[in-house]
Amino acid sequence: LLKKFYNWGLLLKKVSTKKPKIALLATGGTIAGLSKNSNFSYESGVLDIQTLLSCMGELNKVDIYTKQFSNIDSIEIDDKFWLKMLKEIHVLLQADFDAVVITHGTDTMEESAYFLSLCLQSDKSVILVGAMRPYDALSFDGAKNLYSAIVLASHKKTKGVMVVMNDKIFCPRALLKTHSLNVDTFSSLNYGDLGYIVGDQIFFNKIPDHKPAFNLNKAKSLARVDILYAYVNDHNAISARALFQSGTRAIVIGAMGCGNINKNLKQCLKELMKQGLIVVISSRVSMVRVVLSEEDKALGFISSGDLNPQKARILLSLVLSKTKDPKKIQEYFLKY
Ligand code: GLU
Repeated sequence: LLKKFYNWGLLLKKVSTKKPKIALLATGGTIAGLSKNSNFSYESGVLDIQTLLSCMGELNKVDIYTKQFSNIDSIEIDDKFWLKMLKEIHVLLQADFDAVVITHGTDTMEESAYFLSLCLQSDKSVILVGAMRPYDALSFDGAKNLYSAIVLASHKKTKGVMVVMNDKIFCPRALLKTHSLNVDTFSSLNYGDLGYIVGDQIFFNKIPDHKPAFNLNKAKSLARVDILYAYVNDHNAISARALFQSGTRAIVIGAMGCGNINKNLKQCLKELMKQGLIVVISSRVSMVRVVLSEEDKALGFISSGDLNPQKARILLSLVLSKTKDPKKIQEYFLKY
């Protein structure tokens, strides 16, 4: 018992009374959107972060620094934006901030979050948050979501990249936008949620290890990768040929079922692979699990595992800076 008290004593001495220092990077999205009295339509990325923050009253348990990084609809995001955002996050976390909260549009939230989770060179936390309803809508969800993100960012156990929406905490790799309008749009694909937030309390189910795979400190751009969606009637593989002709050398297929593509598309891809095309097979089905035949593996097709096309595209784009060998690329897909 004495030993137990002694350990507690040591622990208490280490506990600092300093408030968590959180940097709030605003990028735009519906959370900063205004409908201007319209019943449905609205503009994303209009309000500034100070106005957004003021709707939450005083936050006296944290020190918050805000930066209007951009104010855009997240559909406009590109790799240059991601590289700049990553750099900014690294500067903030090295400058003694405990965590970064990013307000972001929900349309591409899963892509930005997955990109950051692969490239963040820090064990501190980065929390992405957004809203499905604009600031002046009847049921604006952004205030509660932003509050939850700040609570999550202040928590000592939080590390790596997480997303918080509608009281739930998500892992970027598992995150999936499942509804185009409903506030309960995000789900966890294959793994379950990381936790749940009620007011100031967090109930963690699990906290994954953060394993940054790619150091992009010197990167100026990312390799081009395009996505091709498989569909009925594409028997001339028109889109595949058009992409190759326009310069695409790496492609993710949103195949059918567990990775199926029709004979003509497969034949076309085989020909293009001989000319240098790299092909990752994902699936257009929302709960992705790709299973390739031994024959397809031998041909050089790469399985995305359980990554959906938009996330497989990001991983492939990053991996291409390391290798173009399909076998080695496949190993990355098994690991990340
Ligand atoms: N397209 C907008 C965006 O992603 C609206 C989606 C949202 O934020 O919910 O920024």
